[in-house]
Amino acid sequence: MKRRGLLIILSSPSGAGKSTLAKRLMAWDPTLRFSVSATTRAPRPGEVDGRDYYFKTRPEFEAMVAAGEMLEHAEVFGNLYGSPRGPVEAAMAEGRDTLFDIDWQGGQQVKQAMEKDVVSIFILPPSIGELESRLRSRAQDSDAVIAGRMEKSMIEISHWSEYDYVLVNDDLDLAEEKLRTILLAERMRRFRQPWLTEFGRGLEKEFEQR
Ligand code: ADP
Ligand code: 5GP
Repeated sequence: MKRRGLLIILSSPSGAGKSTLAKRLMAWDPTLRFSVSATTRAPRPGEVDGRDYYFKTRPEFEAMVAAGEMLEHAEVFGNLYGSPRGPVEAAMAEGRDTLFDIDWQGGQQVKQAMEKDVVSIFILPPSIGELESRLRSRAQDSDAVIAGRMEKSMIEISHWSEYDYVLVNDDLDLAEEKLRTILLAERMRRFRQPWLTEFGRGLEKEFEQR
């Protein structure tokens, strides 16, 4: 008897290290599925359509929303972002866990729709100065874009208390270990192990037969 796949939501202000940590978690557990979002924003250098995002025009994105194909969607930095529903439901049914790199608005929507299946994790930077220098070190955005992201960071950070888990990404290795610990523990929640009833019965029977 398989358990349903978990929906693991990772949120943070831009630059706190969510994509880096998501990639590490996926490398650690290849059964994890990353939810590739659709977005109307332009690809950054090195980003691949279908791997990092599904890059869409606004009319294409809006058509997906109208057709009910988005599990959640939100406007972030003037662009639309959303999580396609189909792959998530397929993974859940197969008992595979899905990792989402989405903002607080998306996190709230997924939690409302599927609360029991959701584990939400917020990643904080060690300081605002460090957040800005990480955004700059990524060297993928212009000064104006970075300034805009810093402004939005305040809004994103203000939502940390709505999450199940909160961790500070200071030392990257330690932050990764904390994430793995959360995932291992959540997978062992009793209600997520439907096969336990039968397993427990089997143990009792074994006792009786001794
Ligand atoms: P996000 O996905 O949250 O926007 P990224 O994962 O792209 O952030 O990280 C932003 C930058 O900070 C990247 O250059 C990344 O290598 C770096 N970074 C991430 N975590 C740490 C850390 N713990 N210490 C130092 N640099 C980090
Ligand atoms: P970026 O443009 O830096 O890749 O992402 C900007 C912000 O949009 C990040 O906070 C990221 O978590 C969020 N985001 C990415 N995909 C989605 C999505 O599908 N839904 C929502 N709600 N937010 C998303």
